[in-house]
Amino acid sequence: MLEIKSFTFNPYQENTYILIDEKRNCAIVDPGCYSQTEQQALVAFIKENELSPLYLLNTHGHIDHMLGNRFVVDEFQVPFLTHRGVIAELEHAESYGPLFGLNPSPSPKPDKLVDEGDIIELGSEKLKVIFTPGHAAGHISFYHEASMNILSGDVLFKGSIGRTDLPGGDYPTLMETIFNKFLPLADNVVVHPGHGPTTTVGEEKRSNPFILDWQKKQNLS
Ligand SMILES: [Zn+2]
Repeated sequence: MLEIKSFTFNPYQENTYILIDEKRNCAIVDPGCYSQTEQQALVAFIKENELSPLYLLNTHGHIDHMLGNRFVVDEFQVPFLTHRGVIAELEHAESYGPLFGLNPSPSPKPDKLVDEGDIIELGSEKLKVIFTPGHAAGHISFYHEASMNILSGDVLFKGSIGRTDLPGGDYPTLMETIFNKFLPLADNVVVHPGHGPTTTVGEEKRSNPFILDWQKKQNLS
């Protein structure tokens, strides 16, 4: 069984996730905690629930998803796993941060790089890595097949999709990711995005305007 806890952190209202297995091991995904209050909220949850953090995971390296990377690694001494394409994004985030009034501590370098099809073992639970580019050049999603939950980062949102106007973003690539990696999943797979509320693959298939529009264009051509 996998338990999923989410926090919404920083001025960008980013969703930080904690994935917890039965033995109270956990993975911290995209820690956007920036203020001391946010950092303390994360630590308090982990302590109160007697969790043992095993990993720091990043879906991608945009600033709102990496603000707490250094804090999490210093606090919990966990290895940091992400995709190789994220390394440049993390370095870039440090340089543009001040333009947005944010001064992130430099992120640690990943300890291990993961890619499409890799399995991250969280105790007895298995998280499958899916390469999902388009919003950022280096972007991965984490799929827990057993419970039909996927952490989609900034690829797919409830009724929307990730922006593609930032460096490394590309609209057709993002739509291909959604159509080839997300829509083939079962309709009742729950999508936990990097911003906003959860949704399901089926709900997005039926009503996401970006998906419906892309489908229409593909059918016409
Ligand atoms: Zn992003």
